[in-house]
Amino acid sequence: MPKILHYRDKCIGCNICYEIWPVRWRLSRVDGKCTLVNGIAKKGVWQTNISTDEVAINAQVASACPVKVIRIVKN
Ligand code: SF4
Repeated sequence: MPKILHYRDKCIGCNICYEIWPVRWRLSRVDGKCTLVNGIAKKGVWQTNISTDEVAINAQVASACPVKVIRIVKN
Protein backbone atom coordinates (compact mmCIF):
# COMPACT_ATOMS: atom_id res chain seq x y z
CA MET A 1 0.00 0.00 0.00
CA PRO A 2 1.34 3.48 -0.82
CA LYS A 3 2.30 5.75 2.03
CA ILE A 4 3.33 9.29 2.86
CA LEU A 5 6.48 9.82 4.91
CA HIS A 6 6.98 13.16 6.66
CA TYR A 7 10.38 14.10 8.11
CA ARG A 8 8.69 16.57 10.39
CA ASP A 9 11.75 17.76 12.33
CA LYS A 10 12.98 19.54 9.20
CA CYS A 11 9.60 21.06 8.24
CA ILE A 12 9.79 24.87 8.03
CA GLY A 13 6.03 25.44 8.35
CA CYS A 14 5.56 27.16 4.99
CA ASN A 15 2.04 25.62 4.72
CA ILE A 16 2.30 24.81 1.01
CA CYS A 17 1.29 21.20 1.67
CA TYR A 18 -1.91 22.33 3.34
CA GLU A 19 -2.70 24.75 0.52
CA ILE A 20 -2.40 21.98 -2.06
CA TRP A 21 -4.00 19.10 -0.16
CA PRO A 22 -5.73 20.07 3.11
CA VAL A 23 -7.14 16.57 3.42
CA ARG A 24 -3.74 15.38 4.70
CA TRP A 25 -2.03 18.41 6.23
CA ARG A 26 -2.61 20.84 9.09
CA LEU A 27 -0.41 23.63 10.41
CA SER A 28 0.22 23.08 14.10
CA ARG A 29 -0.45 26.04 16.38
CA VAL A 30 1.88 24.46 18.90
CA ASP A 31 5.16 24.54 17.00
CA GLY A 32 4.33 26.08 13.61
CA LYS A 33 5.16 22.96 11.61
CA CYS A 34 2.74 21.01 9.46
CA THR A 35 1.30 17.79 10.76
CA LEU A 36 0.34 14.77 8.69
CA VAL A 37 -3.33 13.98 9.38
CA ASN A 38 -3.65 10.52 10.96
CA GLY A 39 0.12 10.15 10.84
CA ILE A 40 1.95 7.79 13.18
CA ALA A 41 5.56 8.43 14.19
CA LYS A 42 8.04 5.64 13.59
CA LYS A 43 11.61 6.46 14.55
CA GLY A 44 10.87 10.17 14.19
CA VAL A 45 9.30 9.89 10.73
CA TRP A 46 5.55 10.47 10.54
CA GLN A 47 3.71 8.22 8.15
CA THR A 48 0.30 7.12 6.98
CA ASN A 49 -1.02 4.74 4.34
CA ILE A 50 -2.90 6.20 1.38
CA SER A 51 -4.94 4.77 -1.47
CA THR A 52 -3.46 4.58 -4.96
CA ASP A 53 -5.96 7.28 -5.98
CA GLU A 54 -4.22 9.70 -3.62
CA VAL A 55 -0.67 9.10 -4.85
CA ALA A 56 -0.67 11.71 -7.64
CA ILE A 57 -1.85 14.65 -5.53
CA ASN A 58 0.54 13.74 -2.74
CA ALA A 59 3.41 13.43 -5.20
CA GLN A 60 2.54 16.98 -6.23
CA VAL A 61 2.68 18.05 -2.57
CA ALA A 62 6.05 16.33 -2.08
CA SER A 63 7.42 18.03 -5.15
CA ALA A 64 6.22 21.45 -3.97
CA CYS A 65 7.71 21.16 -0.48
CA PRO A 66 10.66 23.59 -0.52
CA VAL A 67 12.79 21.56 1.89
CA LYS A 68 11.80 18.13 0.52
CA VAL A 69 10.68 16.59 3.78
CA ILE A 70 7.76 14.67 2.26
CA ARG A 71 8.31 11.36 0.51
CA ILE A 72 5.74 9.17 -1.23
CA VAL A 73 6.36 5.43 -1.22
CA LYS A 74 4.32 3.96 -4.05
CA ASN A 75 4.05 0.27 -3.12
S1 SF4 B 1 5.45 22.02 2.37
FE1 SF4 B 1 7.09 20.95 3.46
S2 SF4 B 1 8.14 22.52 4.67
FE2 SF4 B 1 6.20 23.40 4.00
S3 SF4 B 1 4.85 23.02 5.74
FE3 SF4 B 1 4.58 21.31 4.31
S4 SF4 B 1 6.02 19.72 5.01
FE4 SF4 B 1 6.59 21.65 5.99
